[in-house]
Amino acid sequence: MRHMPVRAIVLAAFVCVALPAGAGTPSQDAAAREIYARVLAMRTSAGHAQTPAMVAYLTEVLTKSGVPATDIATLDHGEARAMLVRVPGRERGRPILFSAHMDVVDARPEDWERSPFQLIEENGYFFGRGTTDNKAGVVALVSTILRLRAEGLQPSRDLVFGFVADEETGMETTKLIAEHEWVRGAEFAINTDAGGGLLDDATGKPLIYLVQGAEKTYATFELTVTNPGGHSSRPRARTTRSTRSFTRSGRSRSTGSR
Ligand SMILES: [Zn+2]
Repeated sequence: MRHMPVRAIVLAAFVCVALPAGAGTPSQDAAAREIYARVLAMRTSAGHAQTPAMVAYLTEVLTKSGVPATDIATLDHGEARAMLVRVPGRERGRPILFSAHMDVVDARPEDWERSPFQLIEENGYFFGRGTTDNKAGVVALVSTILRLRAEGLQPSRDLVFGFVADEETGMETTKLIAEHEWVRGAEFAINTDAGGGLLDDATGKPLIYLVQGAEKTYATFELTVTNPGGHSSRPRARTTRSTRSFTRSGRSRSTGSR
């Protein structure tokens, strides 16, 4: 998804989105900032095989906070490693899924004014590949799990947190997550990679918070027309045409020719 630049303060507000009113404590905010810097430094773009390292780091953070290893699952597809974390509820009921993606579109350091894989804060703004799309979402979810642990809160039903590893490319780990037994039957999902809030530049007052209900995807069509040539005012009776359409992952979905 495309995101507009977001002010640093929004991260703190975002971190609290799944919890009752109130910001985190200063130490919880500092922990979120540390996780944000660590995950930003990982080049989790396709071809760099860094999502397993990110899963290892987040697993370490979560298990240190007391999340049992049995409530963490990993799902692999090629070099991509996704992660699920379950927070068991008090009662049986359809779980709620929260999702974020760990991967980013690649960034070439030579194309950037600042280092893309380093968290840089300037004048109240964060810079770096994935600061909003979607590592802020990853940090919001991980911080929410840490707060649930720290404050001893147990949800009424299971909360499942899915961390996707290839949202920007094939989305194969999204499918694995959707099919996982913890997720199947979820009543609904909240996607941190959509919507978002804006604060007024001058006053810091909240201006708008967007909630997205659905998302369309796109298909790219490639049309090739071949003909022996001639003049357009005297078209030939027959042209040869072949069309192909591509899914978002770039694979050919259908071909046809006439
Ligand atoms: Zn995204």
